[in-house]
Formats: sequence, structure tokens, C-alpha cells
Amino acid sequence: MFENLSERLGGVFDRLTKQGALSAEDVKTALREVRVALLEADVSLAVARDFVKAVEAKATGQAVTKSVTPGQQVVKIVHDALVDVLRGAEDPGTLKIDNPPAPILMVGLQGGGKTTTTAKIAKRLKEREKKRVLMASLDTNRPAAMEQLAILGAQVGVDTLPIVKGESAVQIAKRAKQQATLGGYDVYMLDTAGRLHIDEVLMNEVQAVRDVATPRETLLVVDGLTGQVAVEVAEEFDAKVGITGVVLTRMDGDGRGGAALSMRAVTGKPIRFVGVGEKMDALETFEAERIAGRILG
Ligand code: GDP
Repeated sequence: MFENLSERLGGVFDRLTKQGALSAEDVKTALREVRVALLEADVSLAVARDFVKAVEAKATGQAVTKSVTPGQQVVKIVHDALVDVLRGAEDPGTLKIDNPPAPILMVGLQGGGKTTTTAKIAKRLKEREKKRVLMASLDTNRPAAMEQLAILGAQVGVDTLPIVKGESAVQIAKRAKQQATLGGYDVYMLDTAGRLHIDEVLMNEVQAVRDVATPRETLLVVDGLTGQVAVEVAEEFDAKVGITGVVLTRMDGDGRGGAALSMRAVTGKPIRFVGVGEKMDALETFEAERIAGRILG
């Protein structure tokens, strides 16, 4: 679907005379292609522009190594710069869950993959870290969402808080905390309600839940295919609720993952995991190198 950046740059440099160092003109020409590749990968315009400017300064005047073509060399410089921006948390796959029971707040818009990701993370904590996890759905408006979490919990062998009709989100959060304490759980995960768009009511509710739960981690789950929208959602949630990390879902799709770069550049929040499918084990620890490679094509 996309032309590979290396091929593209190869073509650009074939037309240029070989020189001992990357000239300003060579770099400019090459970076025009890089910019197009970034935009095709769904990186936002402002981020692509800033990124290219930073790389331009780095690449100009750099000696051309004998073993690689100038095109390959620019690709490497771009790749390394991408990794620099993308790399966030030192150890993205390790959540702060000491002092049991540690609350993890899951936030995001409806349909972003929040409930699925909650169960995926619970499964991972149980299997890899041998943690006892309790999950609770706070989506009081959508009984189906509550049932969905219970079904996924049964599927992955993780307990869910029994559903009590008529409770508010804050009441459920308090009950989850109590149950997690009494039941000797290491972690309890609160799957908050999503809306189709960010609205005042949603934010107030999530804030109220945050205040009673005082989460160790607040993870925003967003659809990685929504590009700029995902970044705006992250900014909004971070401003209103405060997030400690991001999970990008649907990274198994056709998208090139540019949202990851915009997300890091704009919000500065670490991407912790990527969702790569609907199945319960389709969750990977975020790897800057892998996404950088994918953005470049
Ligand atoms: P929520 O409304 O945010 O809780 O979203 P759900 O967890 O219900 O997910 C919505 C749909 O997206 C479901 O059909 C999930 O199976 C699907 N989904 C979630 N994460 C991924 C992912 O990483 N890849 C793919 N392909 N589908 C996903």
C-alpha cells in the first residue's frame, strides 16, 4: 500500500552526485520524502514538521559512511531519531503495583478497546507476575459492558466484582477497594465508563472515581488507528484526570502507527502496551524500535 521509505530515498539519492558528506541540499531533498512518509503513517502535520527539522540539523554535514548509500544513511538517522522520541518509560511493560491492593484506573472513549485491554492486562499480571487481580466495571449506563467484563474475566480466570444494580461508579470503586483489601488481592482494576466523545459528565465521573481510588496507574486506552483524534483524547484525559501511560489498540490493523509518534511528541506520556488483536493474549509491551520500523515502512 505504501512505498517503502528506503526505496524512495534510494531513488532520490540516485539522482544526486556522490559526495563525501551529506550536503544540506541532499538532506533537504531526502527529508521531503521522510515528511511525506510520516504523514502517510498518520503522524500529525506539526509533529512531522518539528521532527524533520530536528533530523535535518543532525544529518547535515554528516560524513557518508563507505558501506552504506547516502539514502540508507539518512534512513538510519531518521530511524534513530524516531526511536529517541518514541522511547518513553524505561520499562513500559512493568506497572507500578507494589503496596497491595494497587488500583489501576482504565480510561478512554467507548469502543477504544478499554474493557478488552483491562482483561488482557489482568491476564498478563496473573500469568507473568503471579498477581491476584480483581476487575470491576464502572459502566453503570451499559449493563452489557459490565457483563462483557465478567465474561472476559471468566475466560482469563480473573475475578470480577459481582454486579450490584443501582450503584454509582464511585460506589462500585469503593466496593472494589474494600473487596480487594478483604480478599487479599494484589491489584484491582477499574474499567471506567466510556462515551462516544469526551464530555463534562464523563470527566466528572472519572475524576470522582480517581479521587476515591487514588490509582497507582491511570492507563488511557485509545484506538491507534484514529491518529490525531487519539492524541487529542490523550491530551484531554491527561489535563482532566492525569494519565500515567497509554495503550494503543488495533495496532494489528493496516495503520502505520504514526499515532504513537504524535502521542509521544505531544503528550510526553509513555506508551506502555499495544493491542494487536481481539484475543486475550494479543497485547504486547510497547517497543520503540518496532514502531519506528513500521512508521518508516
Ligand atoms: P471499550 O468500549 O473501550 O471497552 O471497547 P471494547 O473493549 O469493548 O472493544 C471494542 C472492540 O474492539 C471489540 O470488538 C474488541 O474485540 C476490539 N478490540 C479491542 N482491542 C483490539 C485490538 O488491539 N485489535 C483489534 N483488532 N480489535 C480490538
